[in-house]
Amino acid sequence: MTDPDFIRRTLEDLRERDLYRHLVAVGSGAGPRVQVGGRTVLAFASNNYLGLAGDPRVREALCRAVERWGWGAGASPLLAGHTDAHAALEADLATFKRTEAAVVFSTGYMTNLGVVSALVGRGDSVIMDRENHASLYDAVRLSGARLERYKHGDAGAAAHLLNPKSEIRNPKSRLLLATDTVFSMGGDLAPLAALAVACRRAGAMLLVDEAHATGFLGPTGAGLAEALDVGEAIIASVGTLSKALGGIGGFVAASRGTCDLIVNRARPYIYSTALPAAACEAARAALTIVRAEPERRRRVLALADRLRAALRDKGFDTGATLRSSASLRSTSRSATPIIPIIMGEPEAALATAAALLERGIFCPAIRPPTVAPGTSRLRVSLTAEHTEEDVDRLVAELVAARG
Ligand code: PMP
Repeated sequence: MTDPDFIRRTLEDLRERDLYRHLVAVGSGAGPRVQVGGRTVLAFASNNYLGLAGDPRVREALCRAVERWGWGAGASPLLAGHTDAHAALEADLATFKRTEAAVVFSTGYMTNLGVVSALVGRGDSVIMDRENHASLYDAVRLSGARLERYKHGDAGAAAHLLNPKSEIRNPKSRLLLATDTVFSMGGDLAPLAALAVACRRAGAMLLVDEAHATGFLGPTGAGLAEALDVGEAIIASVGTLSKALGGIGGFVAASRGTCDLIVNRARPYIYSTALPAAACEAARAALTIVRAEPERRRRVLALADRLRAALRDKGFDTGATLRSSASLRSTSRSATPIIPIIMGEPEAALATAAALLERGIFCPAIRPPTVAPGTSRLRVSLTAEHTEEDVDRLVAELVAARG
């Protein structure tokens, strides 16, 4: 069948606006150096923050588990897809997050969809930071709840929405505030302590998405809630196994009751094949390393400090100042390994990314709708496997590309 006309028109429109996206086939595993177009380039493009995606101990755990369990789970969790390996990982995650229980999903994206739609439904309201991840937006749609958004990082605006002057909400309806703790495209932190207070006052549930905080924030790497000691205020903490933990899968850590509700109500959990058991065993090995080797997170955060300082020194716009608390500053000034370089229009971000690639550096441009119009950027993400020389080279090539 020939493509209907709207497909050609939509693609043309995207090209005209510099918003067309294409896939780059990478010829090697996630690491600080990857193969692109037959060349080895220095990469600042993956969320493998602690360098665990290729760690020999994680690989070995995965291979051993494939020998024992085979590959596919073969069924959804409530049929026969939930194995001893899933149960063991869930117990490990609950210990890591200091909650009663945890539930493992196939991806972080599905976790948000499942958790939000288990907690709220039609007639309820979800209050969200404008810059929350797309999966939280899609989760609210799936739930049928009403969405109300507040200005990025503004806890005062959130408190205002939680307590509207005219009572527009049914007092029986449920109220959920959902926020990323580290914002994926800006690398900045949510004002979580203030949000926790506002939710408690308003009697609202607080859900955190710690996808980009899990593995390196807080004394044991459990996330921003641990760093700020606000775990008690949180109904559900979503994380992913796919970023600092270097694998695939998502999870939610919460009370036993909340987890039981999620298992009973979360459609992306109930109606999709379970994560392979081997992926669970690999995640357990990665989690053990996160806890045993805190130097990995110290290292990536020290590199982030170095890069932020050098970029600012050279006049690059690295986005909003981080709202970091004193306890976070004592760990690191920047506290996250995601550093945006704001360029403005999509064309500028694309041109810089292309110039960098020519110079042997892979750092993709991020454009609307992933970020707000006028804030297209390069998103630099660091891993513990980068060196000081790698970071300095990125800065030098950016200066050269700027001309
Ligand atoms: N939440 C946030 C904040 C994310 O950035 C992402 C991934 N980009 C997800 C959830 C989804 O996680 P996963 O990639 O494991 O589906």
